[in-house]
Amino acid sequence: MFWKYQRKIFINVLLISIIILPISAHATTLKEYEDQVAKYTAELKEKEAKLAKNKEDVEKVKNNIKNITTKISQTENEIVNIQKEIDRSNKEIEEKNAESKRVIEYYQIENGNNAYLEYIFGAETITDMIYRMSVVEQLTDYNDKIMKELKILVEQNKKKKIELNSKKEDLKKLQSSLEEEKKKIEADSAQVEGTIPSTKGQIEFYQQRVNYYRNKGCSSNDVIGVTCDVPKKVVVTKSSTSSSRSGSSSKVDAGPVIGDNGFRFPVNGGRISQYYGNGGHKGLDITRGCGTPIYAVASGRVYYVGNNLDIYGAKMVLIVHNVNGTLVFSQYAHLQGYNVSVGQDVDNNTVIGYMGTTGYSTGCHLHLEMSEGYGWAYNTTYWTYTKHIINPFKYVPRP
Ligand SMILES: [Zn+2]
Repeated sequence: MFWKYQRKIFINVLLISIIILPISAHATTLKEYEDQVAKYTAELKEKEAKLAKNKEDVEKVKNNIKNITTKISQTENEIVNIQKEIDRSNKEIEEKNAESKRVIEYYQIENGNNAYLEYIFGAETITDMIYRMSVVEQLTDYNDKIMKELKILVEQNKKKKIELNSKKEDLKKLQSSLEEEKKKIEADSAQVEGTIPSTKGQIEFYQQRVNYYRNKGCSSNDVIGVTCDVPKKVVVTKSSTSSSRSGSSSKVDAGPVIGDNGFRFPVNGGRISQYYGNGGHKGLDITRGCGTPIYAVASGRVYYVGNNLDIYGAKMVLIVHNVNGTLVFSQYAHLQGYNVSVGQDVDNNTVIGYMGTTGYSTGCHLHLEMSEGYGWAYNTTYWTYTKHIINPFKYVPRP
């Protein structure tokens, strides 16, 4: 493969690492896994406490809203009553006014009201006339006084009504700001709730790891893969691998190439189409036809089989080897299919899968990538891992 592709896949894998590596191990000691369990458990507790508090707060706000709604309808009733009182007063004023008008007509001596003149002069005595006039005057005075009072009452009630209306507006504002507050709390709860499955997933993942390594006899301060659950040491053997697994019938099997250190070339025969370091290439590309069996480069333990580590979905097998205490990792990419499963111990005679072109690839080939000390999805992030990638020929013999 070409460096451009490598760079692209590197960036993409880096992006995917950011997404998936949180569950693909940072921890090197069992304690770090245990700490992760504790950390995410605390986080979950915090979130649950937050949700409980939010629920309480929402209840409080709901009660407040209910009280305010009651107050608003009380105020509305008061406004209606005040208006009724204003109407009543106005009607009374009108009535008094009409009554006074009728009575005042008695005074309209000068304006030629004959009927009234007749009435006045029809008085039997002057005393009677004065009496009548004084009654009329008293009545109109009384009405004037009542009307004045009513008008004051109307003005007061109108003011009160204005005050009640503005009180109602204030209550409505308060009501809508409480509704906003309620919405905010509910949105916060939804957000928190949305992150809970992932937190639970983290707990589950790390708890499984802890359980797994505890079952393997690891204690908290053990370094995974180094002081406990150590893969078997690479067996130094020159034992010949049979040619019976060859996928292509017509080709003559060249037989295995095995070094004195117990490492072998992963394919019987095959041609190197791209060397390590060529244009930033992080591995060794080997071609030998689709379906060609691929062997583990040395004895070790399979720790990853799948196609979800690479963003392009390349099928990969990842193996950890123990070279006298140094962890060495080998990665086989673009496989057509797998022949091993996670946790399986393999040796240099184990077919781990078959040559293919899955993922970002233009033809059947094997991309063999190796690192020392740090393994992708084993004990570090992809970022750190890339700094520990080595030339496979450091261990693997040239064909
Ligand atoms: Zn490659």
